[in-house]
Amino acid sequence: MSAPLPWLEAPLQQALHQRAHALLIHGPAGVGQYEFGFGLSRALLCEATGEGAIRPCGRCTACHLMDTHGHPDFRLLLPEALREPLGWAEEESRKKDAKPSKWIRIEEVRQAIDWTHQSVSRGVAKVLLIHPATAMQEASANALLKTLEEPSAQVRLLLTATDPELLLPTIRSRCQRLGLALPPREQALEWLKERGLAQPQVLLDAAGGRPLEAVALAGEGVDAAAWAALPQRLRQGDATAVASWGLPRLLETLLKLCHDLMAQAAGGAPRYFPAETLPPGAALAELASWSRELTQLSRHDEHPWNASLLAESLVAQAAALWPARAGSSRARVTTLGR
Ligand SMILES: [Zn+2]
Repeated sequence: MSAPLPWLEAPLQQALHQRAHALLIHGPAGVGQYEFGFGLSRALLCEATGEGAIRPCGRCTACHLMDTHGHPDFRLLLPEALREPLGWAEEESRKKDAKPSKWIRIEEVRQAIDWTHQSVSRGVAKVLLIHPATAMQEASANALLKTLEEPSAQVRLLLTATDPELLLPTIRSRCQRLGLALPPREQALEWLKERGLAQPQVLLDAAGGRPLEAVALAGEGVDAAAWAALPQRLRQGDATAVASWGLPRLLETLLKLCHDLMAQAAGGAPRYFPAETLPPGAALAELASWSRELTQLSRHDEHPWNASLLAESLVAQAAALWPARAGSSRARVTTLGR
């Protein structure tokens, strides 16, 4: 991504002056940790000269090499599962049936460490970006430690983490920290509007204030109108509304709906759905038990059940939250996972 996210510009310029050998970039999911890490790498390698030159300039050979993923002094470690979403997929490397790994492979970490010991190709610096650093298992993290302890002068290490506490303390303590914050609402809405999103406030709320997440939702075909129609469709037990969704997205959305219905039942304001789209009448006690069940389900990322059966069953559960209307013969649905 070459267009920088506007809320990351100031922290990026700040980070350029922070001459840390290793930087730990952290902040909430959806703030743009990868975009920040990549943008900072591009700035660190930018070859713009002259006083007051803004880096990255976007015009020099180095910036161009970064944009085409061909800079010899930049290396990125990503788990396989993130390669396609972030535009780094290699056609031939992926077996079609295999589920892409969410871990960074240790051989790749070792190769990257060897690479940091080779001389700099273009004379500016070498940058190794690890996104997210929490995707390294312990052996990989331990392999990296030595590089963190005995840094080569021209090498910069950038690590990202949504939750730095998940990293080994020895890794954390050897990095300078840089925290990123979600943009103010107005700035996020402006940015979403520039990207052509209709009713950006609905999608920004849907995404819990995370603009990149709002874009991801829209990219999955969930626009503001579809989001606003969702509570009613779920009430009707209409599983076609979510038929194309993956389970993680469905579970996350149902948790948001559950949160809002509970807020509403308790007399508070919803957070993710427009208030007028939430059908009233669901009982607080049932919502509380549904919330616990959804939370439990979302902790497992490998579901033993058939995904589409589970999705249908979850939709039926949602529909059963509201009292059946007069004349309806819908039966109560037994809950899952007990
Ligand atoms: Zn440049």
